[in-house]
Amino acid sequence: MSTKPTLATVWLDGCSGCHMSFLDIDERLLELAAQADLVYSPLVDNKEFPSMADITLVEGAVSSEEDFHKIQKVRAHTRILVSLGDCAVTANVPAMRNRFSVASVLDRAYLENVTLNAHVPVEVIPALRKQSIPVHQVVPVDVYIPGCPPSADVIFHALSELLAGRVPDLRPLTHFGS
Ligand code: SF4
Repeated sequence: MSTKPTLATVWLDGCSGCHMSFLDIDERLLELAAQADLVYSPLVDNKEFPSMADITLVEGAVSSEEDFHKIQKVRAHTRILVSLGDCAVTANVPAMRNRFSVASVLDRAYLENVTLNAHVPVEVIPALRKQSIPVHQVVPVDVYIPGCPPSADVIFHALSELLAGRVPDLRPLTHFGS
């Protein structure tokens, strides 16, 4: 059985760009794989969050009831929780809908902007919460990586530092936006 630290990634309300940037680490993913086991992620097949992950990267804001419950479960089973990208850190793009009611957002998406079979779905899609909010407004966050998305170099640096047992100082390396 592996004794390496475990790494997880979670996708809440985001565009997957932060996960794409994670993949842009390219061949250095092999260096990370030598240091940690990826135990849960949209990038792997495991459907159950592990009993404890050493580091979890969270992409996206908390926008739906599913996001809300998921992030609490993830927090309870994670040692170091990392907000990855501006949507997780500030709610960013998902929060653009906050000045409108949930009903008007759904109407816009499912009634006004479609030409065929217009209806607001009541099954399958998770119920939206009134506001999209950053992860730290729901659960404590240990490390923030701003950027839309954060660069692959920054993500690699942050993970390398965390896996070495250090808290990365990302202030000189990161900024909000692209
Ligand atoms: Fe996409 Fe940017 Fe949000 Fe990341 S921070 S999920 S790249 S919009």
